[in-house]
Formats: sequence, C-alpha cells, structure tokens
Amino acid sequence: MGTVQVLPDFQERHRHGCCIVCSLPRRDGDQIVDLGCDIEFEGSLAICTTCVGVVAAAAGLMTPAQVDAINADLSTMTAEVLNARRIMDRLAEKESQVNGYRRQLRTILAEHQGMKVESLRAAALADAG
Ligand SMILES: [Zn+2]
Repeated sequence: MGTVQVLPDFQERHRHGCCIVCSLPRRDGDQIVDLGCDIEFEGSLAICTTCVGVVAAAAGLMTPAQVDAINADLSTMTAEVLNARRIMDRLAEKESQVNGYRRQLRTILAEHQGMKVESLRAAALADAG
C-alpha cells in the first residue's frame, strides 16, 4: 500500500475517474481520498469523502460535520459555564456583604440588649450617622 492522500478531484490514474464505492464523479463539497493502491488493469483506487463519511460512521467514527457540531456545542456550553461562574462569583460577593451586615447587626443587638425598639432604632441611626 502506498501513501494515502487527499486530492481536490479524481485524476486520470483513478479507476474510471470515479469513486470505487458509489461510482460517482466528484460531488460539490467532496474531496477525493486516493487510497495509494494500484490494481493492475484497473488503476489507482480512490474514494469520495461522502463515502469516507459513510464508512467512518459504520466504523463508529465521526464525520467532520459531526465534529464541527460537537465543537459548536462545546463552545456554547463553555460560554454558559463561564457565565455561570461569573454569576456565582457575584453571588458569593453579595453573600459576603450580607454576612458583614449580619455581623454588624448582631454586634448592635448585643450592645443594646434589653433596650426598647425605639431606642434601638435611635442607636442604629446614631451608629450610621
Ligand atoms: Zn463515493
């Protein structure tokens, strides 16, 4: 077996100038895979990329279109994860602020234990001002 190579179209050396699987000439969007095998009186064997995709799928492999679709999904999911992380960071920041307020409130309540609500409010206003 010689070197496998991808070509833009069938060459004169290829058997009947078409794909050895589907027997069609090159279709739009297809490339040609020269298998690097020469058969006496037949020529070099070549297969179109459409048939390569069919064979690859049968063997459990993905086509370039499937890989592109998975990469697009991965990009979307990565963006969603990064956005979720930013939201979680902002929530953690807010939680930290709330915990700070809670500590201040506990301190105020501890300092003014036993005082009536009106005088507690006045004390809080005095602390804030
Ligand atoms: Zn074909």
